[in-house]
Amino acid sequence: MTVQIVEVSPRDGLQNEAVPVSTADKISLIERAIDSGARRIEATSFVHPRAVPQMADAEAVMAGIPRRDDVSYSGLVLNRRGFDRALAAGVDEINCVVVASETFCQRNQQMSVADSVRVVEDLVEDARAAKLGLSVTIATAFGCPFEGEVSEAGVVELARAVAALGVDEISLADTIGVGVPFQVKRLITGVAEVAPGTTLRAHFHNTRNTGYANAVAALDSGVTVLDSSIGGIGGCPFAPNATGNIATEDLVYLLDRSGIETGLHLESVMGTANWLSEVLGATVPALLPRAGAFPV
Ligand code: ZN
Repeated sequence: MTVQIVEVSPRDGLQNEAVPVSTADKISLIERAIDSGARRIEATSFVHPRAVPQMADAEAVMAGIPRRDDVSYSGLVLNRRGFDRALAAGVDEINCVVVASETFCQRNQQMSVADSVRVVEDLVEDARAAKLGLSVTIATAFGCPFEGEVSEAGVVELARAVAALGVDEISLADTIGVGVPFQVKRLITGVAEVAPGTTLRAHFHNTRNTGYANAVAALDSGVTVLDSSIGGIGGCPFAPNATGNIATEDLVYLLDRSGIETGLHLESVMGTANWLSEVLGATVPALLPRAGAFPV
């Protein structure tokens, strides 16, 4: 069995860091991820620099990273302006965000859920014409920091609407790390039924220690693409206390020892996590850099 890992540390990972990270270090992070075997990388985000200052150098990052046929760079896009910037910067794919909760959608992207779907609808044809992959993340799919429980039927209906637009991939995101494995199974099974032919990706945070169990539940339910972040860094600036994506090295350890291929080299990812700790001036949340791999 093979699982594709999308390395999200350069965008989702860094955007929540209070310490400004230099463009050179962002480029270095991406180069290190590639050296460790990452082939799909969320490189940056094309949101307004006022909303996310850490991503203000999106164009410079894209201009400085190595271009290779076997590596796909994704850029986060929330509107037409972001799409135009991403296209000009030379991304390989875009990741749009629709939200399962009305309040979060207003706070995160200043629009209604219906309008967030309309943004995707408006971009589908142009993405196809530009030969860009189009992935859509459903944020707060497992719970909302403002509204609490999110209707599972509502998430499934949202996925149905997005799949009907003809996108390449749908990701269910546990933006604030509240999901649990049996919920993951139900939701993914439900979404798979209404989105046949659409690749399913899952995005987990380990905020409440359920992130890795959720990742296994997602794989068990047929998901073949998982997001993770080197060092387990990252969260969401608009979601209170949303600490930590699942860590790439902790996930790779789990998958390696389960006989599941990722193409990533564990020791190399751990080395990058240690480097990242130095860049950020704080120990990263991942456990493998502390505990070490096994067997040695
Ligand atoms: Zn995340």
